[in-house]
Amino acid sequence: TREKKLERIVQRIRSFPDFPSKGILFKDICPVLKDPEALTAVIDLFEQHVRQTYPQVELIVGLDARGFLFGPLLAQRLGVGFVLIRKKGKLPGPTQSVGYTLEYGMAEAEIQEDAVDAGQKVIIIDDLLATGGTLYAACELLKKQSAEVLGCMVLIELKDLNGAERVKPSPLFSLIQY
Ligand code: AMP
Repeated sequence: TREKKLERIVQRIRSFPDFPSKGILFKDICPVLKDPEALTAVIDLFEQHVRQTYPQVELIVGLDARGFLFGPLLAQRLGVGFVLIRKKGKLPGPTQSVGYTLEYGMAEAEIQEDAVDAGQKVIIIDDLLATGGTLYAACELLKKQSAEVLGCMVLIELKDLNGAERVKPSPLFSLIQY
């Protein structure tokens, strides 16, 4: 059942205070990946949501770096392709980029210019939503490519930081909320 799957996933998420810097409670999903039952549960629940809500999806877009762990598994289940949004300077060939603010300083997200066709229906996936800055930048990049963002999905949503507001009007789906 859905509850059993969620329980299994929750059991495999660890918290590390003050990592990578003071004041951050880091959510570590490594034990989820190490437990095949928990990992299958994650992909099952994402797949179920997409099939019910976005059966028209054509591409899964994953965010650097932990979006790459779940995105391709989900894409395979759905029988669609997977596209990467990376930190600046990692992707070859013509690219488009968007700057965004982090808690300390700035970062840039990048996508290959030919990654998505105009009008393609995509879902963006990452491991965790905090302030929403990263997902917001991804939405902006996909807007530049004239893609249709159906929604954003994360394993973990940190509710207090209000990241879902920043991602609007794209709907956000999260498996676990803290
Ligand atoms: P944000 O742009 O603020 O929503 O941050 C989201 C990105 O930073 C995601 O790619 C996460 O992997 C990472 N991240 C932010 N905060 C945490 C946290 N507390 N634990 C683990 N990862 C985090």
